[in-house]
Parts: sequence; structure tokens; C-alpha cells
Amino acid sequence: EPVDVDKITAEVLDRGKTPASAKEIELRFQGVRGLTVYGNENQLVTAVANLVENAIAYSPERTTVTVTTSEDNGYVEIAVADQGIGIEPRDIDRIFERFYRADRARSRATGGTGLGLAIVKHIATNHGGRVTVTSTVGVGSTFTLRLPSRPTDAALAIPPSVEIGGAS
Ligand code: ATP
Ligand code: MG
Repeated sequence: EPVDVDKITAEVLDRGKTPASAKEIELRFQGVRGLTVYGNENQLVTAVANLVENAIAYSPERTTVTVTTSEDNGYVEIAVADQGIGIEPRDIDRIFERFYRADRARSRATGGTGLGLAIVKHIATNHGGRVTVTSTVGVGSTFTLRLPSRPTDAALAIPPSVEIGGAS
């Protein structure tokens, strides 16, 4: 089904509000409005929300997390940029594996399970897209979810989201 990218980012920014304000992190939106992707809205919200959750978790207090949308050559890109701890080059190829956590994250008091990015990668691939990352230790990371802006066989094969109690 067609999914309004503005709806995805609005929902993600709303979910990120509370964890961001707990660390006085500014959660910003920047970019193009009115973009459409194809697939399952709930899955796409889950994917972007996982990226924002990580950006907040792996950043110090009083930094900025920016969600950017753009269009490039038949693809919509949703990027999540942080000013956080960054990722060592030796870890960067492994963070999308299930249960993999870099040392800095592993030693954090508030631990995760290492599944978030594996789920993001799965959702991206399922939608005929991909997720990439660029990062510099001590400076920050940017994760980019790239999704086809036209209906693909992969995206159309995904069952649509069912709105419970929503208008049809
Ligand atoms: P979970 O998401 O299951 O609660 P997690 O956050 O550790 O746990 P992933 O989201 O899969 O798992 O991330 C894997 C690892 O990648 C993290 O443990 C961390 O080492 C690294 N990582 C992910 N996002 C960032 C980021 N924005 N900045 C720095 N490191 C990151
Ligand atoms: Mg995570």
C-alpha cells in the first residue's frame, strides 16, 4: 500500500519525544514533505523508530538528533543523524547482525539486546530497499533508510497495516 512518509516521521518524532527530553536531546525534522513509499506503515515506523531510539541511546545529553527526508533517483531516503559516541570501523560491518553490540554499548548500564538494527535491515530489504551507516567515533553517526518511491513487487507483496479502530 502507499505510505505517506510524513505520517511515518510524525509518528516517529512523537514516539521519540519522551526519551529525547529525558536527556535534553533536541529531536529535529528537516526535509521534503509529501513523499510516498510502498509497503507496510507499521513496519516502516518500527524501522525508523529503532534508528531514532538508537540515536538517543548512544548520544550524550544536550545533543541534537535530526531526521531528514529526501528523494534521490527513484528512492526516498529517511536519514537519522546523531552527535553521539559513534561506531568503531571494526564494528561497523557487524552492527546489523542479530545480538551484536559494540563494546561501548555493551558496557552501558542500560543494555539492549542487539536486535534493533537486525530488524531495521530486515524491514528495509523486505521493502526492496536498504539501510546504510556512516560514522565517526566521538563525532556521531548517520543511518539512512533507502526505500523505493515507486511500487515494487517486493513492497506490494507485503500485507498492508490494519488500523484497529481507525476509519476505513
Ligand atoms: P536493542 O535495539 O535490541 O535494544 P541495541 O541498541 O544494542 O539493542 P541495535 O539497535 O541492533 O542493538 O544496535 C547494535 C549496536 O550498534 C549497538 O549495541 C551499538 O553498539 C551500535 N549502535 C547502533 N546505533 C548506534 C548509534 N546511533 N550510535 C552509536 N552506536 C550505535
Ligand atoms: Mg537499538
